[in-house]
Amino acid sequence: MSSPVDLQPKPSVIERCTLPGADPASAVAALRPLVSAAAGTGEADAERLAGHLVSLARTYSTEPFTQLEAARHGLGVERPEFRLLLDTFARIPELRTAVEQGPAGKYWTNTVLPVERSGALDAALHGKPWFPNSVGLYPGPTCMFRCHFCVRVTGAKYEHSSVAGGNEMFASIIDEVPTDNPARMYLSGGLEPLTNPGLGELISRAAGRGLKLTMYTNSFALTEQTLSRQPGIWDLHAIRTSLYGLNDDEYQATTTKRASFSRVKKNLMRFQELRRERQDAPRLGLSYIILPGRAHRLLDLVDYIAELNASAPDRPLEFLTLREDYSGRPDGKLAPEERAQMQEALSAFDERVRAHTPTLHVDYGYALESQRMGVDAELLRIRPETMRPTAHPQVAVQVDLLGDVYLYREAGFPDLKGADRYIAGRVTPDTSLAEVVERFVVERREVEPVAGDEYFLDGYDQVISARLGQMTADVAAGWGDVRGFLR
Ligand code: SF4
Repeated sequence: MSSPVDLQPKPSVIERCTLPGADPASAVAALRPLVSAAAGTGEADAERLAGHLVSLARTYSTEPFTQLEAARHGLGVERPEFRLLLDTFARIPELRTAVEQGPAGKYWTNTVLPVERSGALDAALHGKPWFPNSVGLYPGPTCMFRCHFCVRVTGAKYEHSSVAGGNEMFASIIDEVPTDNPARMYLSGGLEPLTNPGLGELISRAAGRGLKLTMYTNSFALTEQTLSRQPGIWDLHAIRTSLYGLNDDEYQATTTKRASFSRVKKNLMRFQELRRERQDAPRLGLSYIILPGRAHRLLDLVDYIAELNASAPDRPLEFLTLREDYSGRPDGKLAPEERAQMQEALSAFDERVRAHTPTLHVDYGYALESQRMGVDAELLRIRPETMRPTAHPQVAVQVDLLGDVYLYREAGFPDLKGADRYIAGRVTPDTSLAEVVERFVVERREVEPVAGDEYFLDGYDQVISARLGQMTADVAAGWGDVRGFLR
């Protein structure tokens, strides 16, 4: 009898042509008849075109932000032949799959293609007003931690007196946001969202409109007391807790707060127990950054999750987001021995996840995913000269407690030097979020980037900036109808 796995269609040799160790020659051979049929060419032309198509798939599966002219020069073909290649590529779905499942495929499937489908990238490219596809609310007036990597200015916080007015402003944004995309809005910071005493009401208001909010939190204040004071927290779609270590010492070294690991763990254990009593309780997940030299801690991370699961065996944690800390590596590359260690640690981790937390969904992010495949991924690095002065408010904005609308995700901290230049405007009782974005776009406002501004962009902002840079170059080179390669 066949197992369920046997029933899955196996990826074809064309679909696998972008994976490390794949044999391009067999993909070319398999492609030849398809190319003949799609492009209506003879044998010799089909062979040449098939070779170019495999090269194109391999390029865009590892370097998704390549400009079309660079790809054309790389192949050494004239424009008419390149046009034929792009048309033929679009007619063979297996080639698209090969790009999407290649080493950098997560750039495509997690971010670029979903945002493409929303229309927000085209709006940004053409400078058209558009309600932002992603709206981050930063409701925390303060934070109990002081993480060493956090850009937060020590001691900076919002006045307590700004909370009531801020929450009214957030309520107005919740009422204003279109509900066609339930995942459009999330809660994060800036500072710690759970330090806002009106958070539960805001969450219930959003849920009442059908919005599925995820909250990014350190969970230090996710106590039973907070939950009974703010029952609206149960209306969240998901809670993503940032972990800062796996014991009290590691936590203290990062957050400077004593015994904070024990407290967060106790909160999560209790939250797990309480979740069992509610059918529609929020999904629970963790996010963990692998610090340099700490890849071996991944096994302890699985044990920690298994421990949390034991307090609610029928409600195991749903997800884990793993990222790597690249901040100390100017070229974004790992040293060879570190890369080998990381690959080994990731495969041991995979194995332990399968054995101890089999239902856990692990999101490895762009870079770790390709490392798992054995390819050394370079991190995308936007520099001031490649930042777009018009930014991308059609794609994403972030709003703090004062109503200030920030253009980048890491800029929304109080008193952060230079960050106020990235405020598109302020939401007030007379000015909606849609109006703030519309004015910024219609008045063609620009922010001239200076050195250091690149740190205001998080990974998502970097992907969007790179994609828009690529699209702009493709359009300028006369490839407007096929700009961006995949859509
Ligand atoms: S990183 Fe988060 S938890 Fe740490 S100090 Fe900054 S806002 Fe607080």
